[in-house]
Amino acid sequence: MAAVTQRPEGLIIDGVVVESSDRTTTAVVNPSTGDVLATVAKGTAADIDAAVAAAHRAMESKAWGGIAPAERGRILQRMAQKLRDRVDELARLESEDNGKPLSQARTDVNVAARYFEFYGGVADKIMGHTIPLSPGFLDYTVREPIGISAQIVPWNYPIQISARGIAPALAAGCAVVVKPSSEAPMTALRLGALALECGLPPGVLNVVPGSGAEAGAALASHRDINQLTFTGSVEVGIAVAKMAADNVVPVVMELGGKSPNVVFADADMEVTVKMVANAIFQNAGQTCSAGSRLLIERKAHAQFVEQLAAHATKMRVGPGIDDPDMGPIISRRQLETIEQYVEIGKQEGAEVAAGGSRPAHLSASRGFYFQPTLLDRVKPDMRVAQEEIFGPVLAIIDFDDLEEAAAIANRSQYGLLAGVWTRDINKALALASRIKAGQVYVNTYGAGGGVELPFGGYKKSGYGREKGLEALNSYTQVKNVCIRYA
Ligand code: NAD
Repeated sequence: MAAVTQRPEGLIIDGVVVESSDRTTTAVVNPSTGDVLATVAKGTAADIDAAVAAAHRAMESKAWGGIAPAERGRILQRMAQKLRDRVDELARLESEDNGKPLSQARTDVNVAARYFEFYGGVADKIMGHTIPLSPGFLDYTVREPIGISAQIVPWNYPIQISARGIAPALAAGCAVVVKPSSEAPMTALRLGALALECGLPPGVLNVVPGSGAEAGAALASHRDINQLTFTGSVEVGIAVAKMAADNVVPVVMELGGKSPNVVFADADMEVTVKMVANAIFQNAGQTCSAGSRLLIERKAHAQFVEQLAAHATKMRVGPGIDDPDMGPIISRRQLETIEQYVEIGKQEGAEVAAGGSRPAHLSASRGFYFQPTLLDRVKPDMRVAQEEIFGPVLAIIDFDDLEEAAAIANRSQYGLLAGVWTRDINKALALASRIKAGQVYVNTYGAGGGVELPFGGYKKSGYGREKGLEALNSYTQVKNVCIRYA
């Protein structure tokens, strides 16, 4: 396995790289090979405490929140440039850490850069209002930084999701403590180190990987945090929200999904097949917004599924660093979960139209591979249509008309994204208004990272919004000042 240069292995607390308080470490595994990629300090509750204390001092010193917003913006822009300058090295590290294809990892690094660029541009445009009251009164609002933002990050898009939360929080003048997933912490640690090189004052951005049960829980339940952004599963999200509630800390919840792509018979089939495949197989299906349900108009079913199966079967699966069409699953445990879901689907009456097992050509590898898989003849209430599998498995469901499509699309505890594929603008608009999801795409899906577009869930997919200008609401609080001058 090729070595990655300058691997950060310590925690980043108060501007310095440190060992964990009890000197324990975690071995981070490269899912493409099963080999140990690096050994990383395992943050403890005491380390979280130290990081929150450093963030507190940084807020008190006004070294960040108290400087000109334009200067904050310039430092964030520098960060964007630094990420772009280091794209090759960071993409390689992300690919080895998470397993994703190298070109996807490059995209992720560029999207991370775009977050710093976008919010760098916004830092000096976070404005309040004046509110007309009565003669003799001046009333205005100011949007102040909310304080210390605690951010708990999953393993599936480590650099993108870290940047998605860090950049708007920093733009607003907050200090941040990030707890990356212990399965893929490498690029979040790099972000912390690079931010210091860009002139971010010590303590403003602290990065403490560690277990969810210890470091994650210590952060979520910490009395001195002022805000929490959690990205992960519904189950952990509920636990974390309860911890934050004990301290009346507001939470942004970015949770799971079972997003539908609704394909009508009049859609451009060639384009739609490719996009529907990409929506589920990107990142081996380990994407919160994966298009994991295909709702296909019954009269187009045979033709569409045949083309989709041909596409899926041709996809190259292999080590991320070789830049295949699809890389491995993050861990053996997750691979086994996916296999179990395929079995459950078959027992429920689904038919495997492509894939369905580990790829034969990788049987000698110690990596965690699964084939791009289509489960056909799925009924809307089957478990494989309802539960988030978090793997390259697409559940295919028929519908006859728009009414039925809308009902099936909404028959889910989740509501993160939806895609609608049709040449008929009336059908597109009708579904866009009826589908209960935070983002609806028509004849496209996702949008190159979608940095500018508000993103978040309906129902159990979460609450609060990240991305775009909306995200700033989570990292600022509004103060109203009312003056009687006559
Ligand atoms: P997870 O919920 O297992 O873990 C997420 C994070 O929470 C990790 O950093 C983990 O260490 C931490 N954690 C675990 N237990 C904790 C506890 N008791 N207290 C505090 N923190 C704890 O999720 P995962 O497996 O890392 O990621 C996959 C899930 O994330 C999927 O459900 C996916 O849909 C979701 N996700 C959502 C979004 C979004 O933006 N909506 C994006 C990516 C992933």
